[in-house]
Amino acid sequence: LHSLADRELDAELTQCRAEFDALKARGLALDITRGKPAPDQLDLSAAMLALPGDDDYMIDGIDCRNYGELAGLPSLRALFGEVLNIAPESLVAGGTSSLETMYDVLSFAWIHGMGGAGAPWSSSPVKFLCPVPGYDRHFAITEAFGIELIAVPLLSDGPDIDVIRELVAGDPHIKGMWCVPIYSNPSAVTYSEQIARDLLSMQTAAPDFRIFWDNAYAVHALVGDAPEVLDVLAIAAQVGEPDRPFVFASTSKMTIAGGGVSFFAGSGENIAWYLGHLSQKRVGQDKINQLRHVRFFGDAAGVRTHMRKHQQILAPKFELVTAALRRGVGGSGIASWTDPSGGYFVNLKVLPGTARRVVALAKEAGIALTPAGSAFPSGNDPQDSHIRLAPSLPSEHDLRLAIDGLCTCIRLAAAELVHSERCGGM
Ligand code: PMP
Repeated sequence: LHSLADRELDAELTQCRAEFDALKARGLALDITRGKPAPDQLDLSAAMLALPGDDDYMIDGIDCRNYGELAGLPSLRALFGEVLNIAPESLVAGGTSSLETMYDVLSFAWIHGMGGAGAPWSSSPVKFLCPVPGYDRHFAITEAFGIELIAVPLLSDGPDIDVIRELVAGDPHIKGMWCVPIYSNPSAVTYSEQIARDLLSMQTAAPDFRIFWDNAYAVHALVGDAPEVLDVLAIAAQVGEPDRPFVFASTSKMTIAGGGVSFFAGSGENIAWYLGHLSQKRVGQDKINQLRHVRFFGDAAGVRTHMRKHQQILAPKFELVTAALRRGVGGSGIASWTDPSGGYFVNLKVLPGTARRVVALAKEAGIALTPAGSAFPSGNDPQDSHIRLAPSLPSEHDLRLAIDGLCTCIRLAAAELVHSERCGGM
């Protein structure tokens, strides 16, 4: 675009405007904002709605109808322990949302501090490291506590360890860090074992530093099989930092997004700390839902078989997105995008300074996108270039319309920018 002669640039701008007007005239109403499962993915778990059935409530010698078992059903902890590579005794099976568990864990730290190690987090300023691009709801949880968020770059094998080492070694107020170690949201990066080890073993000025290790996409491969899940608790113990990782996961994108089971894992100390505080909140877990999940999956192999069915629905949508982007803006130098092998998102990068404009244009044309900047703390993408695409929810037909329309917006925003730069420069 930059190499076009003035006359050619004018022509491109005119053409893009005409295409955009035509797009608007179609009156679309499409939504690719959030990574929700599509109805046919939810249908994969339809049988769960009839489970466990009216005469099935006993498991592990426990009557699931009654109070109790705050750590969750042993059978489900064993089943998902195998999936998540965590010993059952280190894994708690909880309610329907891992985000809620993260919020709880932070609340407990805020009010009570970490058992034995230091004052309540609320008693002095707290900062968190946020690999970017990252997950807006993580940032929102910490922002709700008034925690200062520090963006650190997410590289192709994990967060930039050199930058992080220096920060955590020098600042005792940095108490935590968000991590999505497998198929991260939104760039689908999987951390290497070396980066994981470095994060778990690095020197931190805060003695109660914790990594919020959110393994939300551990088994969510789009191509082939998901990577082996690292035994982070074992690594942390080996390097002498057993209490550093707080591990989270859930079945939200395996079974029923609004009715799954969440998991929390950590060292013996951390589990005792968590359950101790949780016991002030509730008597037990929803064991009927947990039993439903045990019956539905049967075993860890059942989870893998089930996830292949999700893959069959999702993979064509992701292929469609990357093919439509290639067709619409490929080779133009104004956009690049990830081709993820797992997770729920395509991370699109447009010409710096145009992401907000692209999202606004798309909105005008009836295509709802995740707000530009949402993958950054405070919504501030310093380059204004990232847009998160969530292909899962719409039908393939709608998705094609949305991405084709998006390409028109990307081209128009780029032509406008280069044109205005040139006019400004004259
Ligand atoms: N963590 C990450 C990284 C996610 O992308 C999502 C869903 N978009 C969640 C957690 C949500 O988890 P839950 O439904 O268990 O609250």
